[in-house]
Formats: sequence, C-alpha cells, structure tokens
Amino acid sequence: MEFLKKTTSQTVVLEEATLFENSRPGACGIALPPLDVPAADVAKVFGNWARPNDLHLPELSEPEVVRHFTRLSTWNYAIDLGIYPLGSCTMKYNPRLNEEIARSGAILEAHPYDPEEWTQGHLAVMHELQEDLMRVTGHPAVSLQPAAGAQGELTGLMMIAAYHRAQGKPRKTIITADTAHGTNPASAALAGFQIVQVTTDQDGSVHPEAVKAVLNNDVAALMVTNPNTLGVFEKHIKTIADMLHEAGALLYIDGANLNAVLGIARPGDYGADVIQFNLHKTFSTPHGGGGPGSGPVTVSERLIPFLPVPFVEKKGDAFSLSFNRPQTIGRVKAFVGNYGMFIRAWCYIRALGGEGLRRVSEDAILNANYLRSQLKDVFNMPINAPTLHEVVFNDRNQRDSGLETTKIAKRLIDYGMHPPTVHFPLCVRNAIMIEPTETESRREMDRFVGAVKEILATPDVEQAPVRVPRERVDETKAARELKLRHVFR
Ligand SMILES: *Cc1c(COP(=O)(O)O)cnc(C)c1O
Repeated sequence: MEFLKKTTSQTVVLEEATLFENSRPGACGIALPPLDVPAADVAKVFGNWARPNDLHLPELSEPEVVRHFTRLSTWNYAIDLGIYPLGSCTMKYNPRLNEEIARSGAILEAHPYDPEEWTQGHLAVMHELQEDLMRVTGHPAVSLQPAAGAQGELTGLMMIAAYHRAQGKPRKTIITADTAHGTNPASAALAGFQIVQVTTDQDGSVHPEAVKAVLNNDVAALMVTNPNTLGVFEKHIKTIADMLHEAGALLYIDGANLNAVLGIARPGDYGADVIQFNLHKTFSTPHGGGGPGSGPVTVSERLIPFLPVPFVEKKGDAFSLSFNRPQTIGRVKAFVGNYGMFIRAWCYIRALGGEGLRRVSEDAILNANYLRSQLKDVFNMPINAPTLHEVVFNDRNQRDSGLETTKIAKRLIDYGMHPPTVHFPLCVRNAIMIEPTETESRREMDRFVGAVKEILATPDVEQAPVRVPRERVDETKAARELKLRHVFR
C-alpha cells in the first residue's frame, strides 16, 4: 500500500445531507422589503394552477446553500483533478483559452434573433468551423446543428432514410457491429430501422464476408465506429464501403473516435457517406456534467440534399444563414446548434492548426501505446491488433486471485483516479478499456500504472471504494428504483 499512501492523503471531507434534510422552516436566502400593497389571494388569481401549500420546498439561508453545493463539489472527480482514462469518451483537458473566448462579451451577448448585419463575425466563425470539419473528414458538406454524438447519429440515419425514400426504394435495415456504442442501435431504432449485427473478427476488424452474409436490398446502411471501440482501425473498411455502394446501401461512420485519425485518415476518402463529430470529445469542448455537447455531421455528395437547415453560406464577403435545401430533413436543433461549443472547438482548431491536429492524434496514439506497453504483462489482451488511441484489456489473468474488472475499477477510486471504461465494448468479456488522450503527461500515466499494479498485487480489499465520502452503492437498485420525486410528499 505504499503507492496508495503516496497518491492520496487523509484530509477532512465534510459530510453533507440533502437540501431537503437541511431545511429549517422559516429560513430564507433573501430579504424582501415589507409588503406595501394588499396581499393577493393566490387561489383566486391562479385557481387550480395555484401551487399547493404543502410542497415542502427546502428552506435555507444563503450561506447554507452556498456551503451545501461547495461541500458537494469537493466530492467530485474532474479532468482538472487528474487522469480520466474513460475509453471511447476521450476525456481530454479543456484549454482555458477556449473558455476565456467563449465567455467574452460579444460572444456571450449575441442573440439568435440578431439581424445578420450584426452577426457577420459569428457567421464567419461558423463558416470557418464548417470548412475545418470538412477538411478533417474529406467530405463536401456539413451541418453544425446536432447537439451531441447521438443526435448526430440520428440526423445521419434520418438523412439515410430520406435518401432511400428519394430513390423510390425505402429500406428498413441498418447493420451495426458488435463493437458499437449503445447509441448506434438506439439511434437506428429511433429513426425507424431494424437492426442486424455483424461480429468483429479476432483481429479486431469486421470482415467483408461477415457483411456480405447479411447484405441485401433492404439494407439502408452499415453503421460502424472507425477506429472502432477496440481502438483498432477497420482494415477492410474501403472494401466494405465499395460492397455497400454496389448494393445501393450507404456507410455511416460513428466519428466519436476521430481523435485517433486527425490529419491521418479521412473517412470521406474511404467511402463514408456520413460521419458525426463529437466536438466535446475530439475538440476539447467540456464534456460530462459541464455539457452541452455538439455533434456536427459531414456527408458525401449522396446525402447533401437532405442535410438539416439552416447552414452558413458565404457569398462574396457576406455570410448568411441559408434555408435553401428543398429535400432537407428539416431542423434538428433550435437556431444554429450549440454555438458556445462551436466557439471552443474553433479556438482549439485555430490554436493547433492542421499540423497541430495531426500531432494531437499522434500523441494520443503514443500515450495509449505507452499504457499498453506498461500493462500488457499484467492484463490479458483479448484482441491482438495494433493499438490506436485506446487499448482494451480484460481481467482473465486476475480471476484466480478473486479480482475482477469491477473491483479493480472501484479500487482505483481509492487511489484518487477515475476508473477506465469497463464492461464495454460488449464483445470483450469483462473489458477494461483505457484511453489516456494526448493531454496526459508520462508522469500522470505512470501514477495510473503504479496504482493499477499495486491493486493487482494486493487483491484483499473487498468493498472498494472505502476512502471516499460514499462507499460502494448498489448500482442495480439505483437504476431500478429511481427516486426523483421523493421529496414531493
Ligand atoms: C460517446 C460516443 C457516442 C455518443 O456520443 P454522445 O455525444 O455522448 O451522444 C457514440 N458512439 C461512440 C463510439 C462514443 O464513444
């Protein structure tokens, strides 16, 4: 336990009850002047809409409220505290420069109903971002609207459905891979498709024969993440794209893992018809808790007519929002999308430039391979393929000692580190999926490796985490018995 002593310390962490438990009848956070008009009869004014008197909203003073939330904030873990190696999620550091600019006056004060003469600068930024994203994927058109990766997926699938309808031959099936994020089949179902799954080979790629076996003229598209959630580049992707196109089907690439291929491989070049970005993953806009996200899509020629409106158009030196797309699927988000996230992603891209973005991916790959080299002798590696930006292990070597994936993950919390993604991708039993991103230093990765090795050497802690304000919670009960309205007795 030497390492545990070095990485964490016993400090005071204040216990905190809920606001409802802390409530003191009569306590108040504001002081209003005495009423100088007759009191209104709420029941008379609002009738049935009047708020019942027995709501039991919490009553607290201002300092009590401030302390409540400040205490809770000290229980949190964040990317600003240490490594956050959550595979597939790309939890990279959010540069402060982006925040500074996104919070500056002209940007904060812009209103979506401002006339276009006033918003030329904002439209120019969005136009540049559109151009940058197309340059990254090699596609000829883009929509910035979707609010997250999953909504980008839904947007892409709605365009795919519209494309087949426009051909006069609606198709009902989407093929997904067994490495898929849960959002892939969910988005496909929401867009009205049925789902067929193909299996990834031992070498970490989907093989053309597997696709051929399920490909027919009812298949609208294949949906696959590339590099996939095993951190492996789908090596047959071009062959598969050609097969799909020959069969009149399209290729959807889930772009959540673009962090591995910036400036290295462009989905548009290998036949992708649509790909969503996760600006909150690849381009460092805040992610998780701090949201919102942003999930722009770029598309091939085939899907351009169906893109959402509006999009930013440049004519001469003037920028405007264009709605001119007769076959559009419509809007998928109010106004232009999550503009604040565009600013942050634009800053990140501008700060790094093309060379810098390529370096991001090279460093992300280098870091993942460093962790692979440090941990490959302790963990089992179920897939033997070159690692890109994330590496997937499992707990096969640990089973005899009674340690398994969940226990290892929970014990890492005692070391003051966020656990990796576990039990995903689903095609690897008891997966441990690690993505350090390019923003971790070698020192921080060594701290992580040290913690993992000490945990594996001392498998005696049964109920980790034991050094945090809340010990192991019953996750099944928490999911099955949601108590969100508990307070409104
Ligand atoms: C994160 C992720 C998504 C979903 O993105 P959200 O922005 O969370 O909606 C989809 N696919 C993969 C592979 C992901 O990692």
